[in-house]
Amino acid sequence: MSKSSFGFKQVTKEIKTNLVDQVFASVASKYDLMNDVMSMGIHRLWKDQMVKQVPVISDAKILDMAGGTGDIAFRILKKYQAANTNLELTIADYNQEMLDEGKNRAIDENLFAEQLNFSKQNGEKTSFKANNFDIYTIAYGIRNFADLNKGVKEAYRVLKKSGKFLCLEFNQVEHQFLKPLYDFYSFQIIPRAGELITGDRESYQYFVESIRMFPDSDSFKQMLEAAGFKNVAYQKLTGGLTTLYLAEK
Ligand code: SAM
Repeated sequence: MSKSSFGFKQVTKEIKTNLVDQVFASVASKYDLMNDVMSMGIHRLWKDQMVKQVPVISDAKILDMAGGTGDIAFRILKKYQAANTNLELTIADYNQEMLDEGKNRAIDENLFAEQLNFSKQNGEKTSFKANNFDIYTIAYGIRNFADLNKGVKEAYRVLKKSGKFLCLEFNQVEHQFLKPLYDFYSFQIIPRAGELITGDRESYQYFVESIRMFPDSDSFKQMLEAAGFKNVAYQKLTGGLTTLYLAEK
């Protein structure tokens, strides 16, 4: 049976899916706060950077996969509202607790628009029709998939011809001077902060390990190309802590 990495551990794909689901169920209520603490607020700039590149298309059908608590989707919604352009926006995620947090946030922030849908889906095999979306976004979700290749192929399947794919994902830092600092922060600080804020150290240990297990940017670019995507490019943000991938069906 083929295996998948859950952080540094090798487990079956089925087990990885269940473990990742438990991670997000456990941290959902403190997820947004932890993002601000861990990244010192910088994740907001990375997300702004991604959404800046989301095109405004009239009556666009947009899927924010692994959308969690809505950080990307709400930015897209505001961008379309500001441009006075209609859209249909779906936040998909397979973790119910994260989706529930997203729904509550939409209500709290007065964003519960008729064009916004929440859908429980596994990004590796969704119930969406083929050639359905103009834009597919995924931020910090894809490295959690048990089968990355399957997730990439599914993104390709659900996009319309010429549809846009935008993906934000962490990178491990290879710079010889920054790496020791980055490793210290990742392995010594983040799991402790996770324990203090969410009461769950293990989930944040998984978080830092999972970043190390994600393919480097060129390998991920090749995976996208092998799935059929064209014009695949990537941009390194903040010294390569995060990468924004752009592609087209
Ligand atoms: N996109 C949001 C953001 O940027 O704040 C949430 C990112 S959070 C780190 C990762 C999300 O991916 C979680 O909500 C998790 O439930 C979801 N996820 C992980 N594996 C998934 C899968 N196979 N299908 C759908 N969602 C998945």
